[in-house]
Amino acid sequence: MNYRHIYHAGNFADVLKHAVLARLVEYLKQKDKAFRVLDTHAGIGLYDLSSEEAQKTGEWLDGIGRLIDEPLPANVASLLAPYLDAIKALNPDGGLTYYPGSPKLARGLLRLQDRLSLMELHPADFEELHRNFDGDFQTRATHLDGWLAMNAHLPPKEKRGLILVDPPFELEGEYRRMVDNFAKAYRKFPTGVYCLWYPLKNGAPIREFHNAFAELEIPKILCAELSVKGDRDSTGLSGSGLIIVNPPYTLKGELEILLPFLEEKLAQDRFANTRCFWIRGEEQA
Ligand code: SAM
Repeated sequence: MNYRHIYHAGNFADVLKHAVLARLVEYLKQKDKAFRVLDTHAGIGLYDLSSEEAQKTGEWLDGIGRLIDEPLPANVASLLAPYLDAIKALNPDGGLTYYPGSPKLARGLLRLQDRLSLMELHPADFEELHRNFDGDFQTRATHLDGWLAMNAHLPPKEKRGLILVDPPFELEGEYRRMVDNFAKAYRKFPTGVYCLWYPLKNGAPIREFHNAFAELEIPKILCAELSVKGDRDSTGLSGSGLIIVNPPYTLKGELEILLPFLEEKLAQDRFANTRCFWIRGEEQA
């Protein structure tokens, strides 16, 4: 396990993932009934962007660094408010030193009745995650393989839930593993909202990945992608995507506002682009 998210925290991929995560949590809060957020690959939960590791790559400068102090159009501002307010709350004196990973972001948005389950396999990152939630009775951090947890912890006892699956994609076959593990989890908890993150880079099997989801014949699967640059000349990340299963009915419309805005702000070259479409869903119905 070589991957450490501290080197990437707040980058353009985190911006899309976390902005959407915040929309999904806000949507679940529209009903009083309690829900659970299961974060299968949690990381450490909170990132210090002034740390040696984060400074070494400076990836956040081309991510959240391009947004945090920007004037926003009103429609974008209201959609990004839960995400940006969470960041501002961690930096009460202004500036951008602390950045919430998915655990702190989700936790900050929960109500008293809601719960958060966090899985992290890296021993040192788990220790830090655990420390970051010490004494928090609404959150449980577990040192466990997130793929196992996806199966073992579903359905949640609340019977309402959001499952974020955000693996590092450092192993061969991770796209296929995501489809297969999701399919198993969905059979156990078909009413859950699932948000699955994946990287876009040169040679990535994206068409097969989307087709594999389509073949599951699950009614509502939305896809959102943001590439910040062309992938031809690089081996690194050129963008990222999210598969959202059982999305709120409002999400596609929101993404159609957010994605063009994020493309404009986060573009690194003229090949930046976005897509948002149903893999299975409304348009097939
Ligand atoms: N979700 C986090 C966020 O948005 O702030 C970032 C997670 S990072 C992309 C992926 C994390 O998964 C890393 O911290 C890595 O140590 C952890 N990890 C890798 N394999 C895992 C596994 N099988 N089960 C649980 N965690 C794993």
